[in-house]
Amino acid sequence: MVLLKSIPKVDKFVSNKAFEGLSASLITSISKSVIQTLRKDILDNKIDSFEENDLILKVKEEYQKIVDPSLQKVINATGVIVHTNLGRSLIDEKAFNRAKTVATSYNNLEYNLEEGKRGERYSHISKVICEVLNCEDVLIVNNNASAVFLILNTFAKNKEVVVSRGELVEIGGSFRVPDVMSSSGAFLKEIGTTNKTHLRDYENAINENTSMLMKVHKSNYSIEGFSSEVAFEDIVKLANNNDIIDYYDMGSGHLVDLPYGLNTSEPSVLKYMEHKPSLLSFSGDKLLGSVQAGIIVGKKKYIEQLKRNQLLRMLRVDKLTLAILEENIKSILLGQIDDIPTLKMLFKSTDELKENANKLQESIKEFCKTEIIETKTVIGGGTTPNRKIPTIALSIEFKNYKPNKIETLFRAKNIIGRIENEKFLLDFRTVQKNEIKLIEETMKEICK
Ligand SMILES: *Cc1c(COP(=O)(O)O)cnc(C)c1O
Repeated sequence: MVLLKSIPKVDKFVSNKAFEGLSASLITSISKSVIQTLRKDILDNKIDSFEENDLILKVKEEYQKIVDPSLQKVINATGVIVHTNLGRSLIDEKAFNRAKTVATSYNNLEYNLEEGKRGERYSHISKVICEVLNCEDVLIVNNNASAVFLILNTFAKNKEVVVSRGELVEIGGSFRVPDVMSSSGAFLKEIGTTNKTHLRDYENAINENTSMLMKVHKSNYSIEGFSSEVAFEDIVKLANNNDIIDYYDMGSGHLVDLPYGLNTSEPSVLKYMEHKPSLLSFSGDKLLGSVQAGIIVGKKKYIEQLKRNQLLRMLRVDKLTLAILEENIKSILLGQIDDIPTLKMLFKSTDELKENANKLQESIKEFCKTEIIETKTVIGGGTTPNRKIPTIALSIEFKNYKPNKIETLFRAKNIIGRIENEKFLLDFRTVQKNEIKLIEETMKEICK
């Protein structure tokens, strides 16, 4: 086998000038694997010749694949504001810069600057959140799924938790209420039916082993027609009367009034706080528009019990999360909604969206055939189930390409649009102002 003999030796191969300036250990490890594959292909008679130059190119290509950032910026032109696959909520640059200052220096994360001794990680945020929400105390964990898990594990391990059959939901990414409950050690006590649950169903389910009445926001589905559910305030009352805990997993929740009449399909955290619940939890990066986190608010005695659970150590958040969240909640407290990108996008008028679409259409009219379309989009992220909001999109056509071919071309440039009625659309609801120039350049390149 002459060919086998001509396979380069790894140590000689990696000393090739072509690899100068690159990490020697990474080049060696990739080269070993490329040469091994080559040997196997020769033995399997898959190839009958090879060029050393092609091997070098192959190694460099693999090297680049590892070294180039995999997680990268994309332009979200889908119109879905809280897009779970595209990173959910954007973080405002000012809030991010605050976090940068904190994280790139030592900080008082667990240090009380006034007293010169150990401080509490969650104290930084409790004042500002409880000012907004009128709560006794707050706890921040990794995400809302962690919040649900921590609450069930703390108060309901080996005990029963009462939940309506209409609320045993699965949310994208494998969060299923019955499964989370069994992993936490709690026993699910299902009550009612899929479409109707009454207060008497809750009453009848309570026994000496009941720890909690839990309500779950349906998030990504809705029940219409002959249906009813029990108001959370009645659940709170019933729990109080029986000396057990009431808990509402709100999913997204929202802290400011929503436009387009959306308040009716997504619970307002502030409104539910008026009922003085034991515990509520919601996500940091859904309609709150901040960083990934789970926010637990409620009565101080329960929050303190949660803090004593060893599990919290596994679910706790980093300084980056706390710094960003603190900044965003402050913006809400001060009414600076424009500092929260998710809310800013949601509140944008269609006139403003149309203006942006018009400008782009004008600047590329010699290159691409486009049409401005008034249509609808959704918020996404398991919020406001089945509710649509108005939006403006630009449909793009050229060379008789099918819409999915156009979609692929844009996606190759990290611009993610959507296809609707056999047309490829760029939806302006989620396009940021500073991205329009980039879209313009890409369109000129693609359509020419
Ligand atoms: C989204 C959601 C969760 C999970 O929240 P994450 O922040 O994604 O962990 C849990 N419960 C409900 C009802 C939700 O909508």
